[in-house]
Amino acid sequence: MSPDDARHELRQQRAQTQRLTILATSSASYTLDSLWLLLLASQRVIPYSIPLTYFLLAMLASSSFLLLHLSKRNLRFTDPDMTLIQVITGYSLQLLFLFLAPQAAPLFFITIFVVSAFSVLTMSVRANTLSGTIVASLLGILFILKADQFQFPVNTTIEKLCIFGSFVSAWGRFIFLSSWTNQLRQKLHYKNSQLKESLERIEQLASTDELTQTMNRRSFMKLAEYEFQRSHRSQKEFSLLLLDLDRFKTINDSYGHMTGDEVLKVFSQLIKETIRITDSLGRYGGEEFVLLLPETSGTGAIILAERIRLRLSHYDWTSIAPDLAVTVSVGVATYVQGEDLKDMIARADQALYKAKKQGRNQSVKAEPPNNLDERRDIVLSHN
Ligand code: GH3
Ligand code: MG
Ligand code: MG
Repeated sequence: MSPDDARHELRQQRAQTQRLTILATSSASYTLDSLWLLLLASQRVIPYSIPLTYFLLAMLASSSFLLLHLSKRNLRFTDPDMTLIQVITGYSLQLLFLFLAPQAAPLFFITIFVVSAFSVLTMSVRANTLSGTIVASLLGILFILKADQFQFPVNTTIEKLCIFGSFVSAWGRFIFLSSWTNQLRQKLHYKNSQLKESLERIEQLASTDELTQTMNRRSFMKLAEYEFQRSHRSQKEFSLLLLDLDRFKTINDSYGHMTGDEVLKVFSQLIKETIRITDSLGRYGGEEFVLLLPETSGTGAIILAERIRLRLSHYDWTSIAPDLAVTVSVGVATYVQGEDLKDMIARADQALYKAKKQGRNQSVKAEPPNNLDERRDIVLSHN
């Protein structure tokens, strides 16, 4: 059995146990009703055959439900809880005995409320409206046929006790049902918030680079594509910086991989402290990072690139390792209407390459895209 199957099995077992508890509670509830009826029979308000048949019919229904549950046949139904059938049984019993023993009318009216509480708490609004309407219509017919025989038996102390007891015990059952469903609702609410938290965590893990806590390449590219579309539509500027640590391999070789990792962490932290809240930093690959600067001109982007570069070169890296110095080279590209994102990144990459070639520790502005007009013409002629 796979872990998924085992979990499913366990969940099903738990649900079945819960259903059996409900069945046991409803059997106990019918037994209690029968006892009140028995008490009324002892006062000769109704014949003994009434509590007896009531009890037998209720137990017949309960044991049928029990058998269905024990044989797991209930799982074949659309609703394995069989709430509707149980509600129908509950209502039918009360209506039938209201017809057969109108002298004990209050007891059946009270129990109708217990059944409706169960119905309201477990079934849909539609099912409740439908069953409520049917029960109300049948009650109407019973009133026409039997209302003159309805009695409120309170002549003896036992009769009073019976009415009072029936009412209080029904009330108790109502409170029990409400607290039970409330508990279920709370559990569901808790499970939902746990699920939401897990989903958020998974999303965060899937979109964040673990070492530097910046966006990973995939999520950065998604964001860049969005910003690209937005700027393209609104004809607004935006810029992109490609940052590559200088001679990082040497840092790794001289100080070890752990120090290299620490440098990457501090490096991204320093950038985060330098940029605006609307700017986004992503790890493009190994020791290469990318910064997206919405609504930023070429001049603004170069100023930021230089600010980052100087902050890094002036930072006291010796707190990480003795004599450690870190510098970065930056390629700066600003969006030109008509080009696509891939071309823009390629231009930033060329500028970065130039920065490396010219001696590193510098920012270089990308060349504007060439033959963009030609390409635009091609696109236009295609359209
Ligand atoms: P350049 O100035 O030309 O960029 O030289 P470089 O040494 O930085 O460039 P190169 O591409 O030769 O080396 C990049 C190094 O970055 C090699 C790789 O082992 C290291 N690196 C990549 N990812 C990580 C990482 O997560 N942690 C550490 N410690 N090192 C990494
Ligand atoms: Mg490098
Ligand atoms: Mg590199």
